[in-house]
Amino acid sequence: MARVHIVGAGLAGLSAAVELADGREVLIHEAAPQAGGRCRSYFDSSLNMTIDNGNHLLLSGNDSALAYARKIGGDRKLAGPDEAVFDFCDIERRECWRLRPNAGRLPWWILAPERRVPHTAGLDYAALAKLLFARRDQTLRPFIGSGDLARKLWDPIFVSALNTDPSEASAFLAAAIVRETFARGGEACRPLVAVEGLSAAFVDPALDFLRKQGGQVRFGAKLRAIQFAGDRVSALDFGEEIVQLGGQDKVVLAVPPLVAVALVPGLKAPLEFRAIVNAHFAFPAPKNLPLLTGVIGAASEWLFGFSDRLSVTISAAERFLATPREDLARAIWDEVQAVAGFEAPLPAWQIIKEKRATFAATPEQDALRPFAETQWRNLAMAGDWTQTGLPATIEGAIRSGATAAGLCSG
Ligand SMILES: Cc1cc2nc3c(=O)[nH]c(=O)nc-3n(C[C@H](O)[C@H](O)[C@H](O)COP(=O)(O)OP(=O)(O)OC[C@H]3O[C@@H](n4cnc5c(N)ncnc54)[C@H](O)[C@@H]3O)c2cc1C
Repeated sequence: MARVHIVGAGLAGLSAAVELADGREVLIHEAAPQAGGRCRSYFDSSLNMTIDNGNHLLLSGNDSALAYARKIGGDRKLAGPDEAVFDFCDIERRECWRLRPNAGRLPWWILAPERRVPHTAGLDYAALAKLLFARRDQTLRPFIGSGDLARKLWDPIFVSALNTDPSEASAFLAAAIVRETFARGGEACRPLVAVEGLSAAFVDPALDFLRKQGGQVRFGAKLRAIQFAGDRVSALDFGEEIVQLGGQDKVVLAVPPLVAVALVPGLKAPLEFRAIVNAHFAFPAPKNLPLLTGVIGAASEWLFGFSDRLSVTISAAERFLATPREDLARAIWDEVQAVAGFEAPLPAWQIIKEKRATFAATPEQDALRPFAETQWRNLAMAGDWTQTGLPATIEGAIRSGATAAGLCSG
């Protein structure tokens, strides 16, 4: 049987493998000792518990991600409120509120003061409609402005979704998110969190699924070079082993962009990145704290309340890369106490700085993203950085894998 070699076991590679496994022989080659890439759990000895490399949020409108999770049986590990509710706390102005978009497509919630951001008018939200017509070369800030609604709603949402400051972020990519979630009504923007960890929802069930289908995963297999012959890939060079490809064999390259450009001649890819900082505290969430709170007027952006820990995410976090970890932990812990309404000494903590968390979602970098199809007839590209039409997200990564799988199943 013809074989599909998938290089990289992040969500893009796993998604391609899951799509292909029931009709093809699938072999995944992963450089690391584990799967999941930038979306995985690990045991952290400072906290003495299993945590995620970074908190990840999905929305119920992330159709590809949810279809993947359902197929592998990971959807049961995603939790969130039954309705689209988003709690916010402005610690500078000492004000908390709950945003509650209504379920249907007609956004009548913007006319209901108790459902929208305090001190804003329904008309303020209409500006977002213009965003849906944004061109690929436009940046986001002119669409969302810099008034109170931007500070309290648009900035927190878009900075985390794009991992790029709105002053330089692509309005086109922001519009794609709005189109797939908020514009479809509250039913498509219920927040979902992998409460038992990212690996339990997205990685371990995928590996089980693949093994049951006869797929194989080789860990510690780092692709060092690709050999090309005419219009096809002829071999994969893993250093100690060179894998020759049969005439019908195909390859999905699902590695990060910096790796891909070194392997594929002439490949253009986004090579500017933005950081994400996560702070984890070994302190169980108080009972009254929601699973997710948007934090305004602080360094912290989103506070996740888990049963065994409190975790904070800061996106587009270049400004904190040089800050000593202990200083960050102390400052963020002060903010956590202010939001959650308690006082306690700093518990065991962990700060994770992901310098290259995602590519920078600017119009310039977006223009460099390659399509899944390549000039080599048995090579397809996958990854959140390929041309998915979305910023670097779980949804984009999983969709890119499915697209690459489609090219390999012909
Ligand atoms: C801290 C953080 C927070 C995030 N938060 C969110 C969020 O809230 N919501 C959301 O939707 N998205 C979020 N994301 C983005 C999301 O994690 C990514 O979009 C997604 O995981 C990317 O998957 P991928 O498969 O494209 O890439 P990767 O996960 O980078 O996978 C690439 C794989 O290739 C392997 N590899 C590399 N080189 C080689 C080689 N030479 N040979 C073999 N294998 C190789 C790597 O080890 C890795 O396993 C976040 C990311 C980070 C880092």
